[in-house]
Amino acid sequence: MELHRLTAIELVRMIQSGDVRPHEVIIDVFKRIQEVEGKVKAFITLTVEKAYNMARDAENDLFSGKKNILTGIPIAVKDNICTKGILTTCASKILYNFIPPYESTVTSRLLNHKYILVGKTNMDEFAMGSSTENSGFHITKNPWNLERVPGGSSGGSAAAVAADECIAALGSDTGGSIRQPASFCGVVGLKPTYGRVSRFGLVAFASSLDQIGPITKCVADSALLMNVIAGYDPMDSTSAPVGTPDFTENLGKDIKGFKIGIPKEYFIEGMDKEVEERIKDAIKHLESLGCIPVEISLPHTEYAVATYYLVATSEASSNLARYDGVKYGLRVEGKDLLDMYMKTRSKGFGAEVKRRIMLGTYSLSAGYYEAYYKKALQVRTLIKQDFEKAFEKVDFIVTPTAPTPAFKIGEKIDDPLQMYLSDIFTISVNLAGLPAISIPCGFSIDGLPIGLQIIGKPFDEAGILQLAYAYEQSTPWHKMKPIL
Ligand code: GLN
Repeated sequence: MELHRLTAIELVRMIQSGDVRPHEVIIDVFKRIQEVEGKVKAFITLTVEKAYNMARDAENDLFSGKKNILTGIPIAVKDNICTKGILTTCASKILYNFIPPYESTVTSRLLNHKYILVGKTNMDEFAMGSSTENSGFHITKNPWNLERVPGGSSGGSAAAVAADECIAALGSDTGGSIRQPASFCGVVGLKPTYGRVSRFGLVAFASSLDQIGPITKCVADSALLMNVIAGYDPMDSTSAPVGTPDFTENLGKDIKGFKIGIPKEYFIEGMDKEVEERIKDAIKHLESLGCIPVEISLPHTEYAVATYYLVATSEASSNLARYDGVKYGLRVEGKDLLDMYMKTRSKGFGAEVKRRIMLGTYSLSAGYYEAYYKKALQVRTLIKQDFEKAFEKVDFIVTPTAPTPAFKIGEKIDDPLQMYLSDIFTISVNLAGLPAISIPCGFSIDGLPIGLQIIGKPFDEAGILQLAYAYEQSTPWHKMKPIL
């Protein structure tokens, strides 16, 4: 049996009933990796030895009758999430040798549930990008078409899930980095509400936007992972002290009467025709399941890209000041301290990271702060208010996840503005701190997956999952697999 093709929910059932052993599962997953990783290149580090030890651990637990939510489930983790004793590079040459002395909260929680770490996945350097082409190490390919990007920045995680190189993965989303690669790779990606999942041990990019979330083969797996990773954490000062529901509890419940908002600003000129058609079909399908579509307006949408690229770069310029060659990571000696800083940072950071540090430093500098950073914060509030008003009328908002299916490798990399504009449908959600999911909703004529985004009210992940599950279970898309 091809165990690597199964979902987490399916495997959990088989492992806990004793039909299959964690050892067999991980052997099968590494066999799959051996077959396809040369083409997909989803990973920076494979943790083979560690994985076998973890499988043994999981089996010992099962043997003594302990059943945790994720016992024996092989999961891949984005390489900006700290794993104690395991290389964590953020796909940056400046952290090429960084081995964290501590464990992130999310991976500690996975450990408590006896998961198996498959490896650390490729990404855009410091999560800055939408294609994984900004990795300091190599480019990851889209399993559906190896000439296309997997999306980004969590492109390695999404590609690994789509290619069945793991059962599920973790990503991080600052402006769409879980949802957009999920949409490009035909899998499910959930960005939780800001504060829902602890960011302790997530290497900071833009701290007021970053969130960790699951990338999975189906909606139920997303709920399952949320049950493990979500919850208040005193180690993260932005962690929300709210109760954590059982995220699986609404799966399968009726969605009749749900009001779904369709923002007119999200159906814009220049959007790919096939994406538009698939999204409109998906809305009709939701209507056939009893949802009520309502046209809404999010009037400040046109400012979202500019606002995001000021807020995110400003925070990044400050967060990335710590890579100075002194305490960890790359160090290039110089004639004095300043020279060492300059040489280290020039050699260690890639072009996109440097561009953002410069943009951010500029917008925070005296004389420009009021005109750029502060203005951006004011517009951010307007964007947030747009959503608050919309959610007075509707329960969810439904949009495309990205304006196009996966683009070609090399197509946008020399045109940063085009790359930034491809984030148009995902970044407002981060600016407003809201939860949103991307689920597969069909394919282009060329066989590329298209994603549907469902945005919810703050902390209503369970509602989003309920709606997403109802859609998924009545459509065939999530069952399709790329041929590799
Ligand atoms: N593509 C966006 C950017 O380049 C979002 C990245 C992310 O969510 N980490 O900043």
